[in-house]
Amino acid sequence: MATIVVDNLVKSYGSIEAVKGISFTVNEGEIFGLIGPNGAGKTTVLRIISTLLQITSGSINIAGHDLGKHPEEIRKLISYLPEDAGAYKNLTGKKYLQFIANFFDPKQNKSIVTKGVEITNLGERINDRVDTYSKGMMRRLLIGRALMIDPKLAILDEPTSGLDVLNAQEIRKIIKTFSQKGTTILLSSHNMLEVEFLCDRIALIANGRIVEEGKPVDLMKKYHAQNIEEVFTQVVQ
Ligand code: ATP
Repeated sequence: MATIVVDNLVKSYGSIEAVKGISFTVNEGEIFGLIGPNGAGKTTVLRIISTLLQITSGSINIAGHDLGKHPEEIRKLISYLPEDAGAYKNLTGKKYLQFIANFFDPKQNKSIVTKGVEITNLGERINDRVDTYSKGMMRRLLIGRALMIDPKLAILDEPTSGLDVLNAQEIRKIIKTFSQKGTTILLSSHNMLEVEFLCDRIALIANGRIVEEGKPVDLMKKYHAQNIEEVFTQVVQ
């Protein structure tokens, strides 16, 4: 069964139509990437699927639940990592994970946090305050937070934005491992290498519409391109 079915999604902010009738399907265990220029509508789509923004028209179904009718059912299944997410700076990394795990399931707090700590791979630094973390450490903490609950669907907005190569690689490996264990991943990215490495399928969004969609390798063939950056340039320009 498909984990995400988006059908003719439209989103307006007042007179601005940010998303202009987008449809796509993501299958269980797939990594699906939304890529596109600044302002294309990626974050808007991710926030709508995360139940944080209202749909203007169209429909979305997540794991059999209609998002318009049963957002509370969907919230139990998903985890959303915003691009600009932060954590409570006066807590230690571990205390932050404990705090979040309590919202999810107080009875399972210990096992969830153990998993979260493992995902972050922060070692002893997990016991330091969050305000002493570098950008990469912060992102790893937040990836741990998003994945420690074993969501059915993880929605990751620019998961490696602003990270150095090694931190970014580590986060990509974590994402891939989770998808291999069955978590469906919907992500956005500006990093074409990342998209090629991670995504089973991608949708290129420009100006609120999907202008191309497919497996990275098939798109490269179709556009006689060496890499996804070339595909992107041809499609979006
Ligand atoms: P980026 O890659 O720069 O993060 P994006 O593809 O995620 O961009 P969105 O943030 O979804 O794009 O924005 C899509 C469009 O909607 C843009 O024109 C943006 O200005 C507009 N927009 C987004 N949020 C709001 C808002 N709260 N109010 C009004 N317009 C908005």
